[in-house]
Amino acid sequence: MASAAAEQHYRGESGAIGVYVHVPWCRAKCDYCAFVSQPMDNPRLAAAVVSHSVALLQRRLRLCGNPRVDTVYVGGGTPTVLSAALLQQLLGGIAGCVGPGVREWTVEANPDSVTDLQLGCLADCGVTRLSIGVQSFQPRLLHALGRSCRTFDPHRALTSVACGWSGQWSLDLISGIMDQSVLEATDDVERAVGYGPPHISLYDLAIEPGTPLAQRLGRSAASGYANRAALTSATAAGVLQRCGYRRYEVSSYARPAAESLHNGGYWTMRDFIGVGPSSASALSRADGTVVRYCDPSDIAAFLLLGRGRGCWGRAERVNRRSLILERAMLGLRTAAGVSPAEITEQLDRGRAAATRQLLQRWDARGYARLSATRLTMTAGGWERLDLCLRELAAVIGLS
Ligand code: SF4
Repeated sequence: MASAAAEQHYRGESGAIGVYVHVPWCRAKCDYCAFVSQPMDNPRLAAAVVSHSVALLQRRLRLCGNPRVDTVYVGGGTPTVLSAALLQQLLGGIAGCVGPGVREWTVEANPDSVTDLQLGCLADCGVTRLSIGVQSFQPRLLHALGRSCRTFDPHRALTSVACGWSGQWSLDLISGIMDQSVLEATDDVERAVGYGPPHISLYDLAIEPGTPLAQRLGRSAASGYANRAALTSATAAGVLQRCGYRRYEVSSYARPAAESLHNGGYWTMRDFIGVGPSSASALSRADGTVVRYCDPSDIAAFLLLGRGRGCWGRAERVNRRSLILERAMLGLRTAAGVSPAEITEQLDRGRAAATRQLLQRWDARGYARLSATRLTMTAGGWERLDLCLRELAAVIGLS
């Protein structure tokens, strides 16, 4: 845990920062979920976590010199499983901490917990953006995923949002779901587009070790479905782009001006403060390094944070070379890409030359477009992004 002395190094950035608050509850746990979330069965515990999160946020902002906050993201979990009163308490508490300069305020929701009452409460509290996790419209696939809200028809919730929500919103889908067919993937995207969301996120299914889904499918699960998953994901991506959504990040598609500002902050490695079980914070220092803090995943341990010496969780200093790779990894996820000079400028001559050769090879093979000032991945490069980044880590000397 960081000491009080270390905390005082942080004066806050001259630019704005983002704030993330994690709500670790859902109606029930989905089989594929590796996030810190558990079924909501203890309202008193939820109330304790909400007030502790707000108190910690206030304290952390103060320790950072009360920087300007321009994006807030309340995720989880499913924040909308909180009662309307508790959700109001959380959002009102965050608003009191972050001040009036917030340009984008996002709350995650599931179709089974979006009610007109909740929508009204979110709008009254200043929320400007919803991120609604539909994942698939096919009951068969939701069942295969062990998705907790599979028995709910998302139509009512999505119609309420499409007709009654005046802010931005994103509809989130998963593609590459085990034996999902190309027809099913196309149908999911077309139905999503039919509700007119300004933003759609299309995530590849990750079969996370230790989840009930991974245990059910066994060891060779991911490789067994890999080819089919690549095909369905590419098909779904193509349909979205033909429907007028710009792919501005490997999993994110937006109508004009509907891009997520908060997520944009992660991809450009802006400073942010996270609060809540498992939340991370990242704060840059004057010497060019970054310190990350991670709140404990365990709720009881989270509630003890701030009772002793400091109010941050486990700390880790990230050195400059690791930051080069991280910036490249995050930047290459976006259509804006990165500056090749940013990748090579802090490397020694040998590694810088090897890195430039690697980027030229990517360009020659059609994985990337390389100019003097920009490196961006192509659609084919995004399909093999993990492999490319492993190659990059190896030449930078971080593998
Ligand atoms: S709704 Fe989302 S956060 Fe909650 S258990 Fe399912 S996947 Fe996890």
